[in-house]
Amino acid sequence: MKVVVATFNQHKVSELHRLFQSLDFDINLVAYNQTEDAFPISETGVSFEENALIKAHIVHEATGLPTIADDSGLEVDVLQGMPGIFSSRYASPDAEDAENRRKLIYQMSSIGTESSPAVFRCALCYTDAARTIITEGSTHGTITIFERGHGGFGYDALFTPDGGLQTFAEMSADAKDSYSHRSQAVRQLVKYLLSLDTDSTEVFEPDPLPRRDGLVLASIAAAMGTAEHLRMTIRLFVRSATDINHLYEALLQTYLFAGYPAALESLTVLDEEVRSMGYEPQHQAKRFDTDRFWESGEQLARKVYPGVFEKMMTRLGRITPDLAQWMIVEGYGKTLSRPELDIVSRELCIVAVLAVLEREKQLVSHVRGALSIGATPEMLNRCADDVTEWAGNQCGSRLRAAIEKYS
Ligand code: IMP
Repeated sequence: MKVVVATFNQHKVSELHRLFQSLDFDINLVAYNQTEDAFPISETGVSFEENALIKAHIVHEATGLPTIADDSGLEVDVLQGMPGIFSSRYASPDAEDAENRRKLIYQMSSIGTESSPAVFRCALCYTDAARTIITEGSTHGTITIFERGHGGFGYDALFTPDGGLQTFAEMSADAKDSYSHRSQAVRQLVKYLLSLDTDSTEVFEPDPLPRRDGLVLASIAAAMGTAEHLRMTIRLFVRSATDINHLYEALLQTYLFAGYPAALESLTVLDEEVRSMGYEPQHQAKRFDTDRFWESGEQLARKVYPGVFEKMMTRLGRITPDLAQWMIVEGYGKTLSRPELDIVSRELCIVAVLAVLEREKQLVSHVRGALSIGATPEMLNRCADDVTEWAGNQCGSRLRAAIEKYS
C-alpha cells in the first residue's frame, strides 16, 4: 500500500521505513516533500496529537492518498516540559537540530542543571478516506548537557533512555527502536492496520473521544469559528451514524447562543467532513408543532430552573414578553427538547459555548441549570479543561468559578 508521510524531516521517514520493515509490514512510504506541489504546513495545534492530526489531514486532502503524520518531541522536567511541541523549532522557526540542542544545553546550564528526567513523545496519525487513527508512544529517560554519539537526529545525542547505558545517538538503530517512542506508536498502528485485513472480530480500535468530550469540543470550535479544530474533532469522534446525529444536534443548538452564522458554518463543516469519511448524512426537519413546543418547553425549563421558574418568567415577561415566549417555545421547546440528544450533554455543550463567548450571566445560570438536571461538578470541570485548552485560561477560569459557586 502506498502511503504518504506528512513530513519534511527525512530522518523521520527513514525511521518509519525501518520500523515498518522490522515488523514485516508491507508499505510503500513516500515522503511528502517528494510529491508534486508539496507546501509547508503550519503546526497550529496545542498537543502532539493535534499536530499529527492537522498534518495528516492536510496532506491527505492535498494528495488524496492514505497519509501518516508523526508529531513528536522532547519534554524536559527541569524546563517544565519544554521544548515539547516546539522541539523542532526551539532555537528559531527554521532551526537545525544542532542549534536546538545548543539552546537546550544553554537553558539547562543557565539554571545550573547538568541533567534532568525527560520524555520523548510521539503521536502518529494515519488517515485515509474511511478512517483516522491516532496511536502514541513515549520513552522516559535522562537528558544531559553533554553530547555523546553521532547517530540518529534531533536530541538523540543528549538522551539516554531508562534502562539503557548509551544515548540514542550512540546506539545501533535496532537498539534505539527497541526503546523508542516512535516504535511504540508504529507497533500499535500496524496492529490496527493488520486487523482491517482479517476476518477477526477483535478489531483493535484506539479509544475514540469520549462522547461528551467530543460534543463539547465540537461546540467550542463552533463558537470560536475554528474550522480546523472542528474538523479534527469530527474525525476523532465519528465512528457511526449515531455519532454524526449527536454532533449534528450539538452544533445545531449553537444558533441559540452563538447565532445562526456560527451554527450554519459549523454544520457545513460537519457535512463536508462526514461525507469525506464516506457517510451520507440524511437529516430531516419535522413539521413544527408550536403547541407541543409550549408544553415540552415549559416542562424542561421548570426542570432547569427549579424554584425560580415562575419568578424568572414574570420578570422577563414584564421587560420583554416576546423573548420570554421565544425562550420557552424556541429555546427549550423547539431546540433543547429534541429527543435526539440528552439534556445533560446539551447543557454541557451550552456551558462550554457560553464560557468561550464570555457571557458571564448566562454562563452562571446555565451552570446552575446543568447541575439541576443531573450534570456533576466533575463533568463540568472536564468541560472547563476543554475550554481552557482551546479557548484559553481566562475563559476556563470563569467557568471554574461558576462551578465552584454552585456545587
Ligand atoms: P516535529 O516535526 O514537529 O514533530 O518535530 C519533531 C522534533 O522533535 C524533531 O525535530 C526533533 O528535534 C525532536 N525529536 C522527535 N523524535 C526524536 C527522536 O527520535 N530523536 C531525537 N529527536 C527527536
